[in-house]
Amino acid sequence: MTTRRLLLNEIAPLMGRERKLSHSRNESISKILGVNRDRTATNGTGLTASNLVRAMSILTKRTDLHFLTLRPWVKVLSKRGLLRHERVWCPFCYQEWHDTNKSIYEPLIWCINVVQICPIHHHPFLSVCPHCLMTQLVLSGDSQTGHCNKCGKWLGSSRFKSGEVSKMKKAPEIAS
Ligand SMILES: [Zn+2]
Ligand SMILES: [Zn+2]
Repeated sequence: MTTRRLLLNEIAPLMGRERKLSHSRNESISKILGVNRDRTATNGTGLTASNLVRAMSILTKRTDLHFLTLRPWVKVLSKRGLLRHERVWCPFCYQEWHDTNKSIYEPLIWCINVVQICPIHHHPFLSVCPHCLMTQLVLSGDSQTGHCNKCGKWLGSSRFKSGEVSKMKKAPEIAS
């Protein structure tokens, strides 16, 4: 099941988009989630996020899905420049979750524009795939968590991990 199929067949009808998608077999998901920059709104505080949450709540019977978006902060956050328009990730987070058999997902904090580094690994987020050198939309029909939307390759890495760890271990020795 691709993200595109899930959105077109299951989610779009519940978002009231079925009329536009009457010939939807090969239709792009742009009709549901907008193009390019608009797609960031799926994580945001506005109508796109609330429509998506409503559709997903019907499908999953969960009532807490709005916490996966910035909806709970709608009254305190300005929309201006809130969300970044391209997908970013921390390769160490992905790799750690993979190595410890945890769920691979994209934390909400990754889409907030002012957050530039991973709060766990203190490493700047990446936005360019190391394999195909492409940037990516926040969400696409080919989205696969932890993998590049363009070339499909794994985005996790532990390449600099040993260096980071030894640096962190040294810090207390210097302090004492
Ligand atoms: Zn991280
Ligand atoms: Zn790629």
